[in-house]
Amino acid sequence: MSKWMEMEKKYYMPTFQRMPVVLVRGQGARVWDEAGREYLDFIGGLAVNSLGHCHPVVARALAEQGQTLTQTSNLLYSVPQVQLAQLLVENSCADKAFFVNSGTEANEGAVKLARRYGHLHLDGAFEVITTFGSFHGRSLAMTAATGQKRFQEPYAPMPSGFVNVEANSIEALKKATTKQTCAVMLEPIQAEGGVIVPPEGYLKQVRDWCDRSGILLILDEIQTGVGRLGSLFGYQLYGIEPDIFTMAKGMGGGVPIGAFLAKTRADVFKAGEHGTTFGGNPLACAVSHAVMEYVLKYDVVGNAQRMGTYLASCLSDLKAGCPSIVEVRGRGLLWAIEFDRDMGEAVMLGCIEKGLLVNKLKPNAVRLIPPLIITRQDVDQAVTALREVIVR
Ligand SMILES: *Cc1c(COP(=O)(O)O)cnc(C)c1O
Repeated sequence: MSKWMEMEKKYYMPTFQRMPVVLVRGQGARVWDEAGREYLDFIGGLAVNSLGHCHPVVARALAEQGQTLTQTSNLLYSVPQVQLAQLLVENSCADKAFFVNSGTEANEGAVKLARRYGHLHLDGAFEVITTFGSFHGRSLAMTAATGQKRFQEPYAPMPSGFVNVEANSIEALKKATTKQTCAVMLEPIQAEGGVIVPPEGYLKQVRDWCDRSGILLILDEIQTGVGRLGSLFGYQLYGIEPDIFTMAKGMGGGVPIGAFLAKTRADVFKAGEHGTTFGGNPLACAVSHAVMEYVLKYDVVGNAQRMGTYLASCLSDLKAGCPSIVEVRGRGLLWAIEFDRDMGEAVMLGCIEKGLLVNKLKPNAVRLIPPLIITRQDVDQAVTALREVIVR
Protein backbone atom coordinates (compact mmCIF):
# COMPACT_ATOMS: atom_id res chain seq x y z
CA MET A 1 0.00 0.00 0.00
CA SER A 2 1.40 3.40 -0.89
CA LYS A 3 1.88 6.13 1.68
CA TRP A 4 -1.09 8.05 0.25
CA MET A 5 -3.37 5.06 0.63
CA GLU A 6 -2.30 4.64 4.26
CA MET A 7 -2.85 8.34 4.95
CA GLU A 8 -6.26 8.24 3.32
CA LYS A 9 -7.23 5.37 5.63
CA LYS A 10 -6.11 7.43 8.61
CA TYR A 11 -7.50 10.85 7.72
CA TYR A 12 -10.43 10.46 5.32
CA MET A 13 -13.94 9.21 6.08
CA PRO A 14 -14.23 5.69 4.73
CA THR A 15 -17.24 6.14 2.43
CA PHE A 16 -15.49 5.33 -0.84
CA GLN A 17 -14.43 1.91 -2.10
CA ARG A 18 -11.34 3.22 -3.83
CA MET A 19 -9.64 1.60 -6.77
CA PRO A 20 -6.01 0.75 -5.80
CA VAL A 21 -4.42 3.56 -7.83
CA VAL A 22 -3.13 7.01 -6.83
CA LEU A 23 -3.35 9.29 -9.83
CA VAL A 24 -1.01 12.26 -9.97
CA ARG A 25 -1.24 13.57 -13.53
CA GLY A 26 -3.50 13.55 -16.58
CA GLN A 27 -3.35 14.59 -20.22
CA GLY A 28 -6.12 14.00 -22.73
CA ALA A 29 -7.60 10.54 -22.27
CA ARG A 30 -4.56 9.36 -20.29
CA VAL A 31 -3.58 9.51 -16.64
CA TRP A 32 -0.47 8.49 -14.69
CA ASP A 33 -0.08 7.06 -11.21
CA GLU A 34 2.55 7.85 -8.58
CA ALA A 35 4.89 5.19 -10.02
CA GLY A 36 4.62 6.75 -13.48
CA ARG A 37 2.37 3.98 -14.90
CA GLU A 38 0.11 5.13 -17.70
CA TYR A 39 -3.61 4.34 -17.94
CA LEU A 40 -6.20 4.95 -20.62
CA ASP A 41 -9.00 6.61 -18.69
CA PHE A 42 -12.45 5.21 -19.51
CA ILE A 43 -13.90 6.68 -16.32
CA GLY A 44 -13.06 10.29 -17.11
CA GLY A 45 -13.77 11.59 -13.61
CA LEU A 46 -17.20 9.89 -13.89
CA ALA A 47 -18.26 11.59 -17.12
CA VAL A 48 -16.80 14.90 -15.94
CA ASN A 49 -13.64 15.29 -18.04
CA SER A 50 -15.50 15.80 -21.29
CA LEU A 51 -12.42 17.21 -23.05
CA GLY A 52 -10.05 14.82 -21.29
CA HIS A 53 -7.57 15.88 -18.64
CA CYS A 54 -5.90 19.29 -18.56
CA HIS A 55 -7.23 20.39 -21.94
CA PRO A 56 -5.42 23.59 -22.98
CA VAL A 57 -8.76 25.39 -23.26
CA VAL A 58 -9.58 24.53 -19.65
CA ALA A 59 -6.08 25.30 -18.39
CA ARG A 60 -6.04 28.67 -20.17
CA ALA A 61 -9.49 29.71 -18.95
CA LEU A 62 -8.56 28.71 -15.38
CA ALA A 63 -5.33 30.71 -15.49
CA GLU A 64 -6.81 33.78 -17.19
CA GLN A 65 -9.93 34.03 -15.06
CA GLY A 66 -7.88 33.10 -11.97
CA GLN A 67 -5.79 36.19 -12.54
CA THR A 68 -8.78 38.40 -13.34
CA LEU A 69 -11.71 37.77 -10.97
CA THR A 70 -12.68 34.51 -9.30
CA GLN A 71 -15.66 35.18 -7.02
CA THR A 72 -17.92 38.15 -6.47
CA SER A 73 -21.13 36.83 -4.81
CA ASN A 74 -24.39 37.10 -6.67
CA LEU A 75 -25.08 40.54 -5.22
CA LEU A 76 -23.29 41.88 -8.28
CA TYR A 77 -23.50 41.24 -12.00
CA SER A 78 -20.98 38.79 -13.43
CA VAL A 79 -19.84 38.78 -17.05
CA PRO A 80 -18.84 35.07 -17.40
CA GLN A 81 -22.12 34.04 -15.74
CA VAL A 82 -24.20 35.97 -18.25
CA GLN A 83 -22.08 34.74 -21.16
CA LEU A 84 -22.46 31.11 -20.13
CA ALA A 85 -26.20 31.50 -19.58
CA GLN A 86 -26.55 32.99 -23.07
CA LEU A 87 -24.54 30.17 -24.66
CA LEU A 88 -26.60 27.45 -22.94
CA VAL A 89 -29.96 29.08 -23.62
CA GLU A 90 -29.11 29.68 -27.29
CA ASN A 91 -28.08 26.05 -27.71
CA SER A 92 -30.89 24.33 -25.82
CA CYS A 93 -34.67 24.37 -25.48
CA ALA A 94 -34.45 26.48 -22.31
CA ASP A 95 -35.08 30.20 -21.87
CA LYS A 96 -33.31 30.84 -18.55
CA ALA A 97 -30.37 29.35 -16.63
CA PHE A 98 -29.20 29.27 -12.99
CA PHE A 99 -25.76 28.07 -11.90
CA VAL A 100 -24.77 26.00 -8.88
CA ASN A 101 -21.77 23.90 -7.82
CA SER A 102 -22.77 20.29 -8.32
CA GLY A 103 -25.31 17.96 -9.83
CA THR A 104 -27.13 17.44 -6.57
CA GLU A 105 -27.56 21.16 -6.12
CA ALA A 106 -28.83 21.53 -9.67
CA ASN A 107 -31.54 18.93 -9.03
CA GLU A 108 -32.44 20.56 -5.70
CA GLY A 109 -32.94 23.83 -7.56
CA ALA A 110 -35.01 22.16 -10.26
CA VAL A 111 -37.28 20.55 -7.65
CA LYS A 112 -37.65 23.84 -5.76
CA LEU A 113 -38.60 25.51 -9.04
CA ALA A 114 -41.20 22.81 -9.71
CA ARG A 115 -42.60 23.23 -6.20
CA ARG A 116 -42.90 27.00 -6.72
CA TYR A 117 -44.75 26.22 -9.96
CA GLY A 118 -47.04 23.90 -8.00
CA HIS A 119 -47.73 26.59 -5.42
CA LEU A 120 -48.48 29.19 -8.08
CA HIS A 121 -50.27 27.20 -10.78
CA LEU A 122 -51.28 23.77 -9.46
CA ASP A 123 -53.18 24.56 -6.29
CA GLY A 124 -50.20 23.88 -4.04
CA ALA A 125 -49.12 20.59 -5.62
CA PHE A 126 -45.63 19.67 -4.41
CA GLU A 127 -44.95 16.00 -5.08
CA VAL A 128 -42.30 14.93 -7.59
CA ILE A 129 -42.50 11.48 -9.15
CA THR A 130 -39.16 9.73 -9.82
CA THR A 131 -38.28 6.15 -10.76
CA PHE A 132 -36.73 3.12 -9.08
CA GLY A 133 -33.10 2.71 -10.07
CA SER A 134 -32.64 6.44 -10.69
CA PHE A 135 -29.84 8.54 -9.28
CA HIS A 136 -30.33 12.22 -8.52
CA GLY A 137 -27.68 13.03 -5.91
CA ARG A 138 -26.70 12.75 -2.26
CA SER A 139 -28.45 15.51 -0.32
CA LEU A 140 -31.32 14.25 1.84
CA ALA A 141 -33.95 15.46 -0.62
CA MET A 142 -32.13 14.03 -3.62
CA THR A 143 -31.64 10.76 -1.73
CA ALA A 144 -35.42 10.66 -1.39
CA ALA A 145 -35.70 11.40 -5.12
CA THR A 146 -33.18 8.64 -5.90
CA GLY A 147 -35.27 5.49 -6.18
CA GLN A 148 -32.75 3.12 -4.57
CA LYS A 149 -33.24 1.63 -1.09
CA ARG A 150 -29.52 1.22 -0.47
CA PHE A 151 -29.05 5.00 -0.53
CA GLN A 152 -32.21 5.78 1.46
CA GLU A 153 -32.25 3.19 4.25
CA PRO A 154 -29.15 4.36 6.17
CA TYR A 155 -30.71 7.82 6.53
CA ALA A 156 -34.40 7.12 7.13
CA PRO A 157 -36.75 8.82 7.48
CA MET A 158 -36.62 10.47 4.09
CA PRO A 159 -37.90 14.01 3.45
CA SER A 160 -41.41 13.87 2.05
CA GLY A 161 -42.60 15.01 -1.36
CA PHE A 162 -41.11 12.28 -3.55
CA VAL A 163 -42.83 9.21 -4.96
CA ASN A 164 -40.63 6.49 -6.50
CA VAL A 165 -42.31 4.35 -9.16
CA GLU A 166 -41.33 1.56 -11.52
CA ALA A 167 -38.92 2.78 -14.23
CA ASN A 168 -39.86 2.87 -17.91
CA SER A 169 -43.55 2.21 -17.20
CA ILE A 170 -45.95 4.90 -18.31
CA GLU A 171 -48.74 3.09 -16.46
CA ALA A 172 -46.83 3.35 -13.16
CA LEU A 173 -46.39 7.09 -13.73
CA LYS A 174 -50.05 7.57 -14.52
CA LYS A 175 -51.10 5.64 -11.43
CA ALA A 176 -48.83 7.70 -9.17
CA THR A 177 -50.01 11.08 -10.51
CA THR A 178 -52.43 12.83 -8.14
CA LYS A 179 -53.63 16.36 -7.38
CA GLN A 180 -50.47 16.69 -5.27
CA THR A 181 -48.12 16.03 -8.21
CA CYS A 182 -46.20 19.03 -9.58
CA ALA A 183 -43.57 17.24 -11.70
CA VAL A 184 -41.99 14.07 -13.00
CA MET A 185 -38.17 13.88 -12.84
CA LEU A 186 -36.23 11.38 -14.96
CA GLU A 187 -32.80 10.69 -16.41
CA PRO A 188 -32.95 10.24 -20.22
CA ILE A 189 -30.93 7.06 -19.55
CA GLN A 190 -30.53 5.85 -15.97
CA ALA A 191 -26.76 6.05 -15.64
CA GLU A 192 -25.57 5.19 -12.13
CA GLY A 193 -28.53 2.83 -11.82
CA GLY A 194 -27.13 0.53 -14.50
CA VAL A 195 -27.18 2.34 -17.89
CA ILE A 196 -30.82 1.51 -18.47
CA VAL A 197 -31.96 2.70 -21.88
CA PRO A 198 -35.72 3.41 -21.93
CA PRO A 199 -37.90 1.55 -24.42
CA GLU A 200 -38.80 3.26 -27.68
CA GLY A 201 -41.47 5.92 -27.22
CA TYR A 202 -41.38 6.03 -23.40
CA LEU A 203 -40.13 9.59 -23.00
CA LYS A 204 -42.63 10.84 -25.57
CA GLN A 205 -45.40 9.14 -23.62
CA VAL A 206 -44.13 10.78 -20.43
CA ARG A 207 -44.07 14.17 -22.15
CA ASP A 208 -47.65 13.67 -23.36
CA TRP A 209 -48.79 12.58 -19.91
CA CYS A 210 -47.20 15.64 -18.26
CA ASP A 211 -48.90 17.90 -20.82
CA ARG A 212 -52.27 16.25 -20.30
CA SER A 213 -51.94 16.45 -16.52
CA GLY A 214 -50.59 20.01 -16.52
CA ILE A 215 -47.48 18.98 -14.58
CA LEU A 216 -43.82 19.70 -15.34
CA LEU A 217 -41.24 17.37 -16.84
CA ILE A 218 -37.77 17.70 -15.30
CA LEU A 219 -34.95 15.86 -17.07
CA ASP A 220 -31.82 15.13 -15.06
CA GLU A 221 -29.14 15.51 -17.75
CA ILE A 222 -26.30 15.70 -15.26
CA GLN A 223 -24.60 12.68 -16.78
CA THR A 224 -26.24 12.57 -20.22
CA GLY A 225 -25.84 16.27 -21.08
CA VAL A 226 -22.97 17.90 -23.00
CA GLY A 227 -22.66 15.32 -25.74
CA ARG A 228 -22.41 12.13 -23.70
CA LEU A 229 -25.09 10.33 -25.71
CA GLY A 230 -23.93 11.66 -29.08
CA SER A 231 -26.33 14.61 -29.00
CA LEU A 232 -25.70 17.84 -27.10
CA PHE A 233 -28.52 16.93 -24.71
CA GLY A 234 -30.18 13.57 -24.19
CA TYR A 235 -33.70 14.90 -24.74
CA GLN A 236 -32.83 15.61 -28.39
CA LEU A 237 -32.57 11.87 -29.03
CA TYR A 238 -36.17 11.37 -28.03
CA GLY A 239 -37.81 14.23 -29.92
CA ILE A 240 -39.12 15.91 -26.77
CA GLU A 241 -38.33 19.01 -24.72
CA PRO A 242 -38.40 19.13 -20.92
CA ASP A 243 -39.81 22.11 -18.99
CA ILE A 244 -36.76 22.07 -16.74
CA PHE A 245 -33.45 20.25 -17.12
CA THR A 246 -30.29 19.98 -15.08
CA MET A 247 -26.67 19.52 -16.12
CA ALA A 248 -23.31 19.40 -14.34
CA LYS A 249 -20.73 16.67 -14.94
CA GLY A 250 -19.40 17.43 -18.41
CA MET A 251 -20.02 21.16 -18.52
CA GLY A 252 -16.93 22.36 -16.63
CA GLY A 253 -14.31 20.11 -18.20
CA GLY A 254 -13.28 19.03 -14.68
CA VAL A 255 -14.18 22.19 -12.78
CA PRO A 256 -17.17 21.92 -10.40
CA ILE A 257 -20.26 23.60 -11.78
CA GLY A 258 -23.90 22.66 -12.25
CA ALA A 259 -26.95 24.30 -13.73
CA PHE A 260 -30.69 24.07 -13.93
CA LEU A 261 -32.46 25.59 -16.89
CA ALA A 262 -36.12 26.25 -17.56
CA LYS A 263 -38.52 27.21 -20.26
CA THR A 264 -40.44 30.46 -19.75
CA ARG A 265 -43.46 28.54 -18.48
CA ALA A 266 -41.47 27.15 -15.55
CA ASP A 267 -39.26 30.21 -14.96
CA VAL A 268 -41.18 31.20 -11.81
CA PHE A 269 -38.60 32.22 -9.18
CA LYS A 270 -38.88 35.76 -7.90
CA ALA A 271 -36.13 37.81 -6.23
CA GLY A 272 -35.02 36.20 -2.99
CA GLU A 273 -36.68 32.83 -3.58
CA HIS A 274 -33.44 30.99 -4.37
CA GLY A 275 -29.76 31.77 -4.04
CA THR A 276 -26.17 30.59 -3.74
CA THR A 277 -22.85 32.06 -2.63
CA PHE A 278 -20.48 30.12 -4.86
CA GLY A 279 -22.84 29.16 -7.66
CA GLY A 280 -22.25 30.93 -10.96
CA ASN A 281 -18.91 32.38 -9.85
CA PRO A 282 -16.74 33.95 -12.57
CA LEU A 283 -14.05 31.25 -12.38
CA ALA A 284 -16.31 28.24 -12.89
CA CYS A 285 -18.46 30.06 -15.46
CA ALA A 286 -15.48 31.25 -17.51
CA VAL A 287 -14.07 27.73 -17.65
CA SER A 288 -17.45 26.22 -18.48
CA HIS A 289 -18.01 28.85 -21.16
CA ALA A 290 -14.65 27.97 -22.72
CA VAL A 291 -15.51 24.26 -22.58
CA MET A 292 -18.99 24.70 -24.08
CA GLU A 293 -17.67 26.99 -26.80
CA TYR A 294 -15.02 24.42 -27.71
CA VAL A 295 -17.56 21.60 -27.67
CA LEU A 296 -19.80 23.53 -30.08
CA LYS A 297 -17.09 24.93 -32.33
CA TYR A 298 -15.10 21.71 -32.82
CA ASP A 299 -18.06 19.33 -33.02
CA VAL A 300 -17.03 17.36 -29.96
CA VAL A 301 -20.59 16.00 -29.91
CA GLY A 302 -20.07 14.64 -33.43
CA ASN A 303 -16.90 12.88 -32.26
CA ALA A 304 -18.80 11.40 -29.31
CA GLN A 305 -21.47 10.21 -31.72
CA ARG A 306 -18.98 8.64 -34.14
CA MET A 307 -16.82 7.10 -31.43
CA GLY A 308 -19.99 5.90 -29.73
CA THR A 309 -21.10 4.08 -32.86
CA TYR A 310 -17.64 2.55 -33.23
CA LEU A 311 -17.50 1.56 -29.55
CA ALA A 312 -20.97 0.01 -29.87
CA SER A 313 -19.84 -2.23 -32.73
CA CYS A 314 -16.60 -3.19 -30.92
CA LEU A 315 -18.58 -4.08 -27.78
CA SER A 316 -21.00 -6.15 -29.76
CA ASP A 317 -18.03 -8.08 -31.24
CA LEU A 318 -16.59 -8.41 -27.74
CA LYS A 319 -19.86 -9.87 -26.48
CA ALA A 320 -19.94 -12.37 -29.35
CA GLY A 321 -16.51 -13.68 -28.27
CA CYS A 322 -17.12 -13.67 -24.50
CA PRO A 323 -19.80 -16.06 -23.21
CA SER A 324 -19.61 -14.46 -19.73
CA ILE A 325 -21.04 -11.21 -21.15
CA VAL A 326 -24.83 -11.31 -21.03
CA GLU A 327 -25.45 -7.79 -22.30
CA VAL A 328 -23.76 -4.63 -23.55
CA ARG A 329 -26.04 -1.60 -23.46
CA GLY A 330 -25.79 2.15 -23.78
CA ARG A 331 -25.71 4.99 -26.18
CA GLY A 332 -23.02 7.40 -27.36
CA LEU A 333 -20.14 7.19 -24.89
CA LEU A 334 -22.10 5.80 -21.93
CA TRP A 335 -21.96 1.98 -21.86
CA ALA A 336 -22.40 -0.91 -19.45
CA ILE A 337 -21.07 -4.44 -19.88
CA GLU A 338 -23.04 -6.93 -17.80
CA PHE A 339 -21.71 -10.38 -16.89
CA ASP A 340 -23.40 -13.65 -16.00
CA ARG A 341 -21.77 -13.53 -12.54
CA ASP A 342 -20.28 -11.06 -10.07
CA MET A 343 -17.03 -10.43 -11.92
CA GLY A 344 -17.22 -6.60 -12.10
CA GLU A 345 -14.53 -6.20 -9.46
CA ALA A 346 -12.20 -8.73 -11.11
CA VAL A 347 -12.63 -7.06 -14.51
CA MET A 348 -11.99 -3.61 -13.03
CA LEU A 349 -8.80 -4.87 -11.30
CA GLY A 350 -7.68 -6.85 -14.38
CA CYS A 351 -8.08 -3.74 -16.51
CA ILE A 352 -5.89 -1.75 -14.12
CA GLU A 353 -3.14 -4.32 -14.75
CA LYS A 354 -3.62 -3.78 -18.49
CA GLY A 355 -3.44 0.01 -18.13
CA LEU A 356 -7.15 0.74 -18.50
CA LEU A 357 -9.49 2.39 -16.00
CA VAL A 358 -13.14 1.26 -16.04
CA ASN A 359 -15.84 1.78 -13.42
CA LYS A 360 -17.34 -1.15 -11.52
CA LEU A 361 -20.99 -0.21 -11.93
CA LYS A 362 -22.54 -3.16 -10.10
CA PRO A 363 -21.17 -6.47 -8.74
CA ASN A 364 -21.85 -7.97 -12.19
CA ALA A 365 -21.22 -4.99 -14.47
CA VAL A 366 -18.68 -2.35 -15.49
CA ARG A 367 -19.34 1.07 -17.05
CA LEU A 368 -17.41 2.89 -19.77
CA ILE A 369 -17.65 6.70 -19.71
CA PRO A 370 -14.53 7.96 -21.52
CA PRO A 371 -13.76 11.59 -22.38
CA LEU A 372 -15.66 12.76 -25.47
CA ILE A 373 -12.40 13.46 -27.34
CA ILE A 374 -11.27 9.81 -27.57
CA THR A 375 -10.02 8.37 -30.86
CA ARG A 376 -10.59 5.05 -32.65
CA GLN A 377 -7.16 3.94 -31.38
CA ASP A 378 -8.29 4.62 -27.82
CA VAL A 379 -11.42 2.53 -28.38
CA ASP A 380 -9.32 -0.28 -29.89
CA GLN A 381 -6.89 -0.20 -26.96
CA ALA A 382 -9.72 -0.30 -24.41
CA VAL A 383 -11.62 -3.12 -26.08
CA THR A 384 -8.44 -5.18 -26.54
CA ALA A 385 -7.64 -4.83 -22.84
CA LEU A 386 -11.22 -5.72 -21.90
CA ARG A 387 -11.13 -8.82 -24.11
CA GLU A 388 -7.85 -10.03 -22.59
CA VAL A 389 -9.23 -9.55 -19.09
CA ILE A 390 -12.67 -11.04 -19.69
CA VAL A 391 -11.68 -14.17 -21.62
CA ARG A 392 -8.77 -15.23 -19.43
C1 LIG B 1 -23.68 12.37 -10.78
C2 LIG B 1 -25.15 12.57 -10.88
C3 LIG B 1 -25.85 13.36 -9.96
C4 LIG B 1 -25.18 13.99 -8.76
O1 LIG B 1 -24.19 14.92 -9.11
P1 LIG B 1 -23.11 15.38 -8.02
O2 LIG B 1 -22.29 16.40 -8.75
O3 LIG B 1 -22.36 14.18 -7.61
O4 LIG B 1 -23.87 16.00 -6.90
C5 LIG B 1 -27.21 13.53 -10.16
N1 LIG B 1 -27.85 12.97 -11.21
C6 LIG B 1 -27.20 12.22 -12.11
C7 LIG B 1 -27.96 11.66 -13.27
C8 LIG B 1 -25.84 11.97 -11.97
O5 LIG B 1 -25.21 11.19 -12.87
